[in-house]
Amino acid sequence: MDLEETGSASGSGTGSLCGSELSSLCEDGHRRRESTASTDSVYDTESITSSRESLIESSHSFSQRQVILRSTFQPDALGVPTLIWPHQSHQPVIRSRSLPPSTSLTPALHATTIIPSLSLSSPATDAKLRFTTGLVYDAQMQKHQCICGDNSRHAEHAGRIQSIWSRLQERGLKGQCETIRSRKATRAELLSVHSENHVLILGNNMDNHKLTGPQIFVVLPCGGVGVDIDTVWNEQHTAAASQIAAGCIIDLALKVAQRELKNGFAVVRPPGHHATCSSPLGFCYFNSVAIAAKQLQHKLNVSKILIVDWDVHHGNGTQEAFYKDPSVLYISLHRYDDGNFFPGSGHPSEVGADAGKGFNVNVGWTGGLDPPMGDAEYLAAFRAVVMPIAHEFSPDVVLVSAGFDAVEGHPPSLGGYMVTAKLFGFLTRQLMSLAGGRVVLALEGGHDLKAICDASEACVSALLGMEVEPLSQSLLDQKPCENAVRSLQRIVQIQGEKTSS
Ligand SMILES: [Zn+2]
Ligand SMILES: [Zn+2]
Repeated sequence: MDLEETGSASGSGTGSLCGSELSSLCEDGHRRRESTASTDSVYDTESITSSRESLIESSHSFSQRQVILRSTFQPDALGVPTLIWPHQSHQPVIRSRSLPPSTSLTPALHATTIIPSLSLSSPATDAKLRFTTGLVYDAQMQKHQCICGDNSRHAEHAGRIQSIWSRLQERGLKGQCETIRSRKATRAELLSVHSENHVLILGNNMDNHKLTGPQIFVVLPCGGVGVDIDTVWNEQHTAAASQIAAGCIIDLALKVAQRELKNGFAVVRPPGHHATCSSPLGFCYFNSVAIAAKQLQHKLNVSKILIVDWDVHHGNGTQEAFYKDPSVLYISLHRYDDGNFFPGSGHPSEVGADAGKGFNVNVGWTGGLDPPMGDAEYLAAFRAVVMPIAHEFSPDVVLVSAGFDAVEGHPPSLGGYMVTAKLFGFLTRQLMSLAGGRVVLALEGGHDLKAICDASEACVSALLGMEVEPLSQSLLDQKPCENAVRSLQRIVQIQGEKTSS
């Protein structure tokens, strides 16, 4: 692909303990979900999922969660299973507490309903958009490359987004979506998450790189320049690419929030979730998803934002950005291994602070690759932790830090897990049951080209509402591995202890 070609203008439960009654309540809940699957909002994906699949989901979810939680959940009055934190007998977690309703978003409605744009306009001024899945991409982001020119030395390279974009075109998915214009994030937008110095050094003002701030750039063994061995710096293009990645996600999120688009998928790089207020890290310069969440708050007054981060690495930067903020629930699923996997943060005991306590959930897997986590474990995490908490929070918009390095095909140093690409399509559909379907996925990590193309295809297909082959019964019946069960039990226990104290 010609690097000069740009994608711009391409416009073509809160639970309460009841001890001895739990067992019978669970049984009752099971029967109730079997008979009234459509009222089971955890697994009811509204018009997206067939009722047959909902039934399979609900029956299986019960047995799987039993393994993990052993009678620690119960259905509420509407038949919605909610987590019962084991040590939370008197003070339930209220993740929706003290949050005023969004003033600028229309109520959550079925995703097929077309809602006029609100008076608050987004920065880009596209012509009228089809109400479908939005895509955003800009080939300028390919120019962010190490000056050594050897992609084999750098896992996060330009071929990643080019391959995904080509795949979406080849499969005819791009044509069913609406491609929006790309743009750079503004300085003010970057400052919503990052320090002035960070923006000054890494922003798109070339002179500043040399003249101001601490000297953060080093010469790499390959002969290139970087802030660390992974995080390369291209004097001409890195700043622009990083700002475009952030700007693309911002606009996509604003358009989805305002119902100009049904949902969205951003094919962007460099990734962002490791970037903190004042430091680039792990391929990341600006935390694009965090910036987009801030813009939803600032420009649309969105009250409750859920960020799900399923990149295999913990999103330390995103966690930091919202650690004290109860209006943003951050849920990360990542390989943790007692702090021995990059970036080392993401312990389940990191549950948020001050008013944000209880609004940070780390599903940090421990147990190494013996065996590697796979579909059964990620399904279990969604059923036992992610979806119950997400439904309890009841977000207005869902942003997904959609790294695909948990997908099979990545060596142990880059993940080593065995989740299938197809499962990420399924998980996307689960998230579409939230926030009236306002879901925006943004690429983070993932380096095996086949894996990230397959997963992107699965997720965009899901966002478009396409019929997909259901998960196999054997997978639905598979119990998560012992390490995963232990990890999930620990997470539930810690969340209960920390959030009730
Ligand atoms: Zn290099
Ligand atoms: Zn990653």
